[in-house]
Amino acid sequence: MASEAETAYELFIGGREAPSASGERRTLTDPATGEPVATVSFGSRDDARAALEAADRAFRESNWASDDGARRARALAKLAALLEARAEVFARLETRNVGKPLREARGDIAYVVRTLEYFSGLADKVEGETIPVPGPRFDYTVREPLGVTVHIAPWNYPLLLAVRSVAPALAAGNSVVLKPASLTPLTAVAFARLAREAGIPDGILNVVPGSGRDVGEALVDDPRCRSVTFTGSGEVGPRIAELAARRLVPVTLELGGKGPVLVFPDADLERAAKAIGYGIFGNAGQMCWAASRLLVHESIRPALLDRIRRIAEGLKVGPGLEDGVEMGPLVSQEQADRVLDYVEIARSDGGTVVTGGGRPPDARLSAGHFVQPTVLADVPPGSRAVREEIFGPVLAVASFAEPDEAIAAANATTYGLLAALWTRDLATAHSVARRLEAGMVVVNEAPTTFPQSPFAGVKGSGLGFEQGARALEPYARRKNVLVHLGSPKRS
Ligand code: NAD
Repeated sequence: MASEAETAYELFIGGREAPSASGERRTLTDPATGEPVATVSFGSRDDARAALEAADRAFRESNWASDDGARRARALAKLAALLEARAEVFARLETRNVGKPLREARGDIAYVVRTLEYFSGLADKVEGETIPVPGPRFDYTVREPLGVTVHIAPWNYPLLLAVRSVAPALAAGNSVVLKPASLTPLTAVAFARLAREAGIPDGILNVVPGSGRDVGEALVDDPRCRSVTFTGSGEVGPRIAELAARRLVPVTLELGGKGPVLVFPDADLERAAKAIGYGIFGNAGQMCWAASRLLVHESIRPALLDRIRRIAEGLKVGPGLEDGVEMGPLVSQEQADRVLDYVEIARSDGGTVVTGGGRPPDARLSAGHFVQPTVLADVPPGSRAVREEIFGPVLAVASFAEPDEAIAAANATTYGLLAALWTRDLATAHSVARRLEAGMVVVNEAPTTFPQSPFAGVKGSGLGFEQGARALEPYARRKNVLVHLGSPKRS
């Protein structure tokens, strides 16, 4: 079981932990200190195929799919309870692997528990319909699992985003192969062990850490893979869709964002500032739905900008395990460099840095991948810093005079994940929400979701949806059965 002292993690295939076929191991380091956290077996294409084989066999030979859904419901509920009992160990592991403040990691694990509970409740409700048809016939549908479903997860919420799709796939009776991000595989492996303890049959949940290009593509491009759920960047998503399309395999894509926040003159500025601060500095801005573009009415701009600046400057930045830390490091040096490059782009395009814009001056933090909470103002709309996803703690502020102008600016992006708006006026709230090109809109609220609410992007932010009562749909296909009842026998 995951413990803090443990430092070696393996692949999890067919209910067993084993090194990769190549024997390759990688050392993962703490983003806050550069110190080693653990080593992990790094899978190859052969391991991907072994995991698909194990999953396929378990799907056909175990009774996971054929059993009464109530059994799957119980197993998922047990898994939720086991995870809740070990929540602190999992949260600390996530913090050491990703860098996020412990308070946030605890929130992530609580969310995973809730997700498992929610989908446990749906496992025995995968229902078909009866359909009236002419003549002495009986027409009905049954819902069936697909077989092996593949799930590819990113590094920003490692366990949460993996389980968000793994839980409904399991609830519907599929067997699963999960590839966590190569930087953050630890909680996924620890989770697979818990699944075994919860009574999920061997081979039904497999985890293969490894690179996207090798393990990820080998999983997608294999006849045993019957569906792909990918959460990650807008660069990789279309590649996955292309590979899956060749075999007519359905995909769900949860991709990036460039979330707008519209603040109207009647907004509660105190609450708005706090929510905007959370929306861009939470998880050090490494959020697909980050509130990264603030569009504020010109009449309230100085007052709001001043509040946000004070929030940014007051945040306690440091190692996620330290008490009271509110923002941790970025996940890697590469990511920190990328974020700072965008600040330079904004500057050279004529934007101003209101606060932050560099590495924190604190010498204690010099070994970690820290970036200051940063606010940029008046970056021209055509700048790459306004158009592209930065995936770091960088807010770009612009102002508007008329609502139409704000809506046009909000929609002027290739993305469409989450949009936020702040107003006390009901008519403005609903009419603007309708006109925003986004899969999700929050009104007077920070980026927030629940396992029971659909999570989806439009435009370049994705395809399909996750969460909510319909989240089992992609994992339980419909079969229509038409029966001719013959003529009634005469007695
Ligand atoms: P990424 O696209 O680089 O990687 C995501 C996953 O795909 C990783 O497991 C990676 O190893 C794998 N991968 C990479 N190349 C692959 C390939 N050719 N074939 C198969 N798999 C491959 O993304 P990331 O850097 O890990 O995560 C950050 C991105 O994820 C951001 O763009 C963010 O917005 C997005 N994201 C979206 C959501 C959402 O729900 N919409 C949630 C979180 C993150």
